[in-house]
Amino acid sequence: MKLIFLGTGGGRFSAINQRRMTGGFRIDNLGGKNYHIDPGPGALVRTYQFGLDPRNINGVFVSHAHTDHYNDAEILIEAMTRGMTQNAGYIMGAKSVISGYEQWGPCISAYHQSKSRVLELEDNEVKAFQNCLIKATPTNHGDPVGIGFQIDYRDFKISYTADTSYFPELPKAHEGADILIASVLRPGGKAIRGHMCSGDFVKLIKEVNPKLAIMTHLGLKMISNNPIAEAKRITRNTGIKTLAAFDGLSLDINFNNPGRPRLTSLKDVDAPYHGSNNNLSRFERKNTNKLAIKHGEIDEIPPAYRKHQD
Ligand SMILES: [Zn+2]
Repeated sequence: MKLIFLGTGGGRFSAINQRRMTGGFRIDNLGGKNYHIDPGPGALVRTYQFGLDPRNINGVFVSHAHTDHYNDAEILIEAMTRGMTQNAGYIMGAKSVISGYEQWGPCISAYHQSKSRVLELEDNEVKAFQNCLIKATPTNHGDPVGIGFQIDYRDFKISYTADTSYFPELPKAHEGADILIASVLRPGGKAIRGHMCSGDFVKLIKEVNPKLAIMTHLGLKMISNNPIAEAKRITRNTGIKTLAAFDGLSLDINFNNPGRPRLTSLKDVDAPYHGSNNNLSRFERKNTNKLAIKHGEIDEIPPAYRKHQD
């Protein structure tokens, strides 16, 4: 299994200024399936930039109705369903995201929900998808029905707090996690409302006792405060291997030994395509056409008509 971080910036200002990216993360090859979690602004672009293919996802999960978590969900669903021409994949998320709740959401249109299986989840509810179980975990955040998750794949448990402050029931909800991924907005011991700081994360790690802890969704203060050094301090304090995610981080996880992942920093594979150089543009013209035909992506002929012509 791989965990791939397509954005590790958190909070509205991190998202607006893109000092770190906000594409969320992917869980790849979980029993042969791929999932995109909290696809914020840029998720589609970052997917290509780091050499992945949005068409090969089997599910999209959105934790709550904040832009930095849901912005690119619909376009990823279009990729998953081949431009809404096939029934495919799962859409999982909070009530606010799927149906709307009070002033929040819905964040995914009925049209975009029409080609996939939809799992709307509330606190502590457990549902099955593909070869996994997903349990919704409670949060204490701006969106009153926002959720995190614990995914159970053959007894291997990946927990994601999503955005939340620390509260007494949180450790219980993530009990048994092998990997604990958390939104940690701020360094040190002073949290802002609805979010965790490093001090809260330390408490959570000690109580949950995972084999690997990862902090992401880092706010501006955390980013300018050397998050890698912060993660090392947390590791020393808790005795649990803790990583500060960065944009393009790929972790190879061995189910038998999740505490020792292999780290890779993914390269920006798109850089040559976006140049203004003449040769590149010739190269692009040639290859774009070939790839579009290979994937059956021909905008000029709507899919309904194409069938008759074939
Ligand atoms: Zn939020």
